[in-house]
Amino acid sequence: MNDRLVNEFCRLVAIDSPSLGERRMADYLKGRLESLGFSVEEDQAGSICGGNCGNLYAFRRGQTPGDSLLFSMHMDTVEPATGKEALLLEDGRIVSRGDTVLGADDMAGTAAVLEALEQIREENLPCRSLELLFTIGEERHLQGSAVFDFQKVCSKEAYTLDLSGPVGTAALRAPSLAVFLARIHGKSTHAGFAPEEGVHAVAIGARAAAALEMGHVGEDMTVNVGSFHGGGATTNIVPDYCEVRGEVRGLDHERVLAQLEKIRQTFAGEAQKAGGSLEYETEICYRAYETDRNHPSVRRFARACRRAGVEPVFTETFGGSDQHRLAASGIRGVVMASAMHRCHSCKEYTDAGELEQVCRIVKEILCDRE
Ligand SMILES: [Zn+2]
Repeated sequence: MNDRLVNEFCRLVAIDSPSLGERRMADYLKGRLESLGFSVEEDQAGSICGGNCGNLYAFRRGQTPGDSLLFSMHMDTVEPATGKEALLLEDGRIVSRGDTVLGADDMAGTAAVLEALEQIREENLPCRSLELLFTIGEERHLQGSAVFDFQKVCSKEAYTLDLSGPVGTAALRAPSLAVFLARIHGKSTHAGFAPEEGVHAVAIGARAAAALEMGHVGEDMTVNVGSFHGGGATTNIVPDYCEVRGEVRGLDHERVLAQLEKIRQTFAGEAQKAGGSLEYETEICYRAYETDRNHPSVRRFARACRRAGVEPVFTETFGGSDQHRLAASGIRGVVMASAMHRCHSCKEYTDAGELEQVCRIVKEILCDRE
């Protein structure tokens, strides 16, 4: 077991770093990166997003020719995450105390990258110029990377360490995510004296929500209603307002847009039938992308895995990551499995052996000469 890597991981986990509260993490990483020869800049994302710290961008000139490579990770963790502690079990697994998440998402990848850089320094291995991006608020619909200035980035290939699943897996494709908000207006009246004079907004919302196709819709799209609110505090009023929020995610952006429109029609149809009205808002949180199998990042990742003794597996994900923002700025790449499992739960864990494998793959990417 690589004790230094495990200790680094445990140290990172012990730093509280909730979304938009990443200050201490950023300060720690700044110090670590400067000691590794990086120049580090912090942007204004904190003040824009309402957090206490910005995204970190770090650069280090390399010794070998070729374009720089970008590695991207996020500094925040989902709740519950106050007072996290990493416990190393006998079998090499690392878990939380059980009352918080572990924070392997995204500290496992972060620890692996720091350790790979340490080893490269110790062994005096030449490597390329490097750019590192540590974002804030990633767990809140990629808030930090949404305001990062990607003009700064010189790299044409990116490696985002932010995927669960077996080490050696990389996602090349990820969905669009759109959210919708249906506001239904009816007409209130006394429920006992004159219910026939009212227009029941909650009933409209319920009929529409029940009529939606939910869960998997076709092969590559999902739809979910996540919240439903309506009516007031008393039972004797026919409610005149109801709001329904949901999301559509899908690998085909045009189909996501078509589904949003279909959902609007469903709500509008039910509202109209009952004499109510609808306001409908949508927002595209991020847009689907696909990295070509022949992209240099994909080939480099595959070579690095094989050199590290891991068979690469390419897949797709149904989650969002900062690679969405990178792709939208024309920087293609892979989202690599980074030794994190059962993320966003108190059962989250990583594994000392897997951390070492991720570190090895990162090191091989950094030292790859092709
Ligand atoms: Zn993550």
